[in-house]
Amino acid sequence: MVDLRSDTVTKPTPAMRKAMGEAEVGDDVLGEDPTVNLLQEKVALLTGKEAGLFMPSGTMANQVAIKTHVQPGDEIIIDRDAHIYYYECGATAVISGGQFQCLVGEQGVLSAEAIASAIRPSDIHQPPSRLICLENTHNRGGGSVYTVERLTAISELAVQNGMLIHLDGARLFNAALACSTTVKEMAVQADSVCVALSKALGAPAGSVLCGSSYFIEQARRFRKMLGGGMRQVGILAAAGLHALDHHVTRLAEDHQNAKKLARGLAGVSGIEIDPGEVLTNIVLFDVAGTGMDADVLVERLATEGVLLIPFGPTTVRAVTHLDVSAADIDEALEIIRRVLEGF
Ligand SMILES: *Cc1c(COP(=O)(O)O)cnc(C)c1O
Repeated sequence: MVDLRSDTVTKPTPAMRKAMGEAEVGDDVLGEDPTVNLLQEKVALLTGKEAGLFMPSGTMANQVAIKTHVQPGDEIIIDRDAHIYYYECGATAVISGGQFQCLVGEQGVLSAEAIASAIRPSDIHQPPSRLICLENTHNRGGGSVYTVERLTAISELAVQNGMLIHLDGARLFNAALACSTTVKEMAVQADSVCVALSKALGAPAGSVLCGSSYFIEQARRFRKMLGGGMRQVGILAAAGLHALDHHVTRLAEDHQNAKKLARGLAGVSGIEIDPGEVLTNIVLFDVAGTGMDADVLVERLATEGVLLIPFGPTTVRAVTHLDVSAADIDEALEIIRRVLEGF
């Protein structure tokens, strides 16, 4: 079975489990877990921020960041396919009372110009434009990327307008690799950033939210409020530290496998894809030409041994990850060809 549904399906490696088993722990709500503290310091350093905060999930990291940045009624500029807007159960309305202004990005990626024209003038009738949320890489955009240049332009715009930026960097390491830069170069353009340990990095759980010391101090209270204060969680933090030491450089393999998959798919009749648009570990393709809806095709392929996710009426998503090899991609392509072309 080749499981390309998501990079969240990875299982901890034996070495990661060993690191988890040997982790030194303490009560993290009291700030006494040395492994959590080490992870937070390490990710803060990597992202060029003063402090970090371990979070049970990316969703909580994003929502705590937004809660820390905005007051009820404040406006948040975001693209309409962003995870924060699309996949987080309306949490911002419930938790922060922030109001979204949704823009349509190019594969989810916004330009400084588009954001500039969405920022509201100072007018008692209008909500104050307070926060810009960006996603790098962009999941629903097919792993598309904000370059450092684009982030810098948006950052300058935010400063000029007294706005803040939160960067949802669930796959920021993938973005940095695709742009041959560091996560720091990207993260320093935002006021807060979160990175996931449980996506491409292959840890079982956790994200780290980073920002100024003051921001993190407030975020810690909101994390507690939402039930995210955990105790001897160094066991999970150890998996994150192990992932940062051993699973970052190997992301290149995932990107190569995604390219390989995209090139193979481009040659299958009924499938539409531009391999040139596949920059990271996410592959989106259109299956309208097969005469099958995405969910029907995905179900069919699952019975043959390839797991994918329907991502739209005729759009399918595949994600490469730690537990998928180049040989698995060959196998997946063979199965897809057999199902769609009959040989
Ligand atoms: C998965 C994901 C999240 C949420 O992370 P969870 O740990 O699943 O809550 C946020 N943003 C992006 C871009 C994601 O892909």
